[in-house]
Amino acid sequence: MAQDAKHTILKQYFGYDSFREGQERLIDTILSGRDVLGIMPTGAGKSICFQVPALLLPGLTLVISPLISLMKDQVESLTQSGIPTAFINSSLDTEAYEKTLEGLQQGLYKILYIAPERLRAEGFVHLIRGLTISMITVDEAHCVSQWGQDFRPSYLEIDRFVKGLNYRPILSAFTATATSQVRQDITALLALNDPEVLVTGFDRKNLYFEVRHPQKKMTALLDILDERRGKSGIIYCATRKNVEAVCEAICAEGYPAVPYHAGLPDAVRRRNQELFIFDERPIVVATNAFGMGIDKSNVSFVVHYNMPGDLESYYQEAGRAGRDGEAADCILLYSGQDVRTQQFLIERGSRDAEDPEADAVLKARDRKRLKTMTFYCTTNDCLRGYMLKYFGETAPVCCGHCGNCNTQFETLDITLEAQKILSCIKRTGQRFGIKVVADTLRGSKNQRILSLGFDKLSTYNIMAEVSEKRIREMISHLAMEGFIQITDDAYPVLHFGPRARAVLFDGERVEMRLPKERTPKAKTAAGKDRTSGDAAENPALFDRLRALRSRLAAAQQVPAYVIFSNAALADMSRRLPKNDNEFLEVSGVGKAKLERYGQDFLAEIAAWLQEQG
Ligand code: ADP
Ligand code: ZN
Repeated sequence: MAQDAKHTILKQYFGYDSFREGQERLIDTILSGRDVLGIMPTGAGKSICFQVPALLLPGLTLVISPLISLMKDQVESLTQSGIPTAFINSSLDTEAYEKTLEGLQQGLYKILYIAPERLRAEGFVHLIRGLTISMITVDEAHCVSQWGQDFRPSYLEIDRFVKGLNYRPILSAFTATATSQVRQDITALLALNDPEVLVTGFDRKNLYFEVRHPQKKMTALLDILDERRGKSGIIYCATRKNVEAVCEAICAEGYPAVPYHAGLPDAVRRRNQELFIFDERPIVVATNAFGMGIDKSNVSFVVHYNMPGDLESYYQEAGRAGRDGEAADCILLYSGQDVRTQQFLIERGSRDAEDPEADAVLKARDRKRLKTMTFYCTTNDCLRGYMLKYFGETAPVCCGHCGNCNTQFETLDITLEAQKILSCIKRTGQRFGIKVVADTLRGSKNQRILSLGFDKLSTYNIMAEVSEKRIREMISHLAMEGFIQITDDAYPVLHFGPRARAVLFDGERVEMRLPKERTPKAKTAAGKDRTSGDAAENPALFDRLRALRSRLAAAQQVPAYVIFSNAALADMSRRLPKNDNEFLEVSGVGKAKLERYGQDFLAEIAAWLQEQG
């Protein structure tokens, strides 16, 4: 009976045919009246675990979430699916606030999102006491623990609030990352009552992990972006200053990026976030202030320009890639300086100004976490295995899908290549950076090269068959070995190094241990044949549906993904539905979405089919 009900809800409101791993068990447990603690990685589908029971339980479900900036979108998303939902946080003006309170009293909503601070407001608490709350859901539950990476003192109010009610609603707590200590804290501090604890696989199989130790991070970043043109990605930097600098530099190279950090005015930040979410500027360069709960499903790469301070943060930030289940890449650009920056932040900061003893303990813990993070960056073992073990899961010795598992080394004689590269540096006057030199060698027809007249040089097009990436690797190696010197300017220039003449004129041999050139079917998502999702069977139609979605989203001023995910659009362009019933078969289409958008999308598909004859 309950089984049918929850499947019906899943299909009707969310448009999905089946539950994912863990979802069903958590929902059943909640419906049986027992508390739950769900620990599931980002993108696993935590929301469904409390949203489905919320619709089946008699009263209101109160969702406590720290993500004020995103509540509006989450509520919008649910409303679009036909689920009566509201939110209350400090961003509401008095009128909207009053209206929501009225709605609550009339029992209009099934789900109410609030920020934890709200539990301190007497008026609100009083009102809530008069309602029937069936369940209290604590999202991002690790915030209750000071061992977690983003402790929120206001989360400690939750327990007080629950105890102040004259009945005990079901408590369900969710988080993406929780080491065993944080788990214990969640259970104790939220006073969960004999909860069913469910940890679903942290392993995100569609994510490819890699750590690079580049000479020049900017060069490495431009490489990464070059392989991923047209894709959406997040670039994390440790400081606001870096965010500005990196964003400026990649925009100058023609990449559509926006900056995001806490130092920007609110309006600018909001606007940049929207530009990113709507894919008008598919790349965002951000500090870790960005992304908490961002549900942009088509993020195809996350680059860490700086190493974060701990592995929990890293896994959470990297986990924002590939939420649509598509192959995606998580690449960390490591340098020793990153470690020093993080050390500085730990020593300078004060975790608990009032209690020096606690402060010392917390700092010691931070140092330990930094060490774990640093080891991740320097290990030669499987990167995925390293992380899974840290989060308390078993892992194979070699996952076969990370930078370390993929790397096979070979030692090559690159004397001839070195001579070609050095000649090109000479012919272009020792005045240019890696990009111009590599473009010249590879015979690029780009405007810069042509306008400089480098297509007339004898070194033009003499390494056409070598990838730009490989040329860059060789240049790095030649720099490390003293054949080339790279200046320390903002735009580094290549000069002859002290050993250059020996190679050019004295026949000195150059060897290099190189990662084997990846086969055309590269393991990274960038080079991978896309499998499902936006790998639509009919790409032209998929693009049209995407454009339609953008128009509809813009008209309603909502993010595109709250209308349909990319996976849903891909499923449409595969199934080619011709009527309402067929449209309902599409993954991600429920009743409300059919009513709202069925006509528009069916018409677009029909038009396309007709053009195809
Ligand atoms: P989390 O909060 O765990 O990071 P979400 O709840 O935002 O993840 O879900 C991630 C994505 O997976 C969303 O687009 C959601 O609609 C989708 N999803 C969740 N459950 C299912 C399911 N059973 N079938 C198909 N898609 C699902
Ligand atoms: Zn691996």
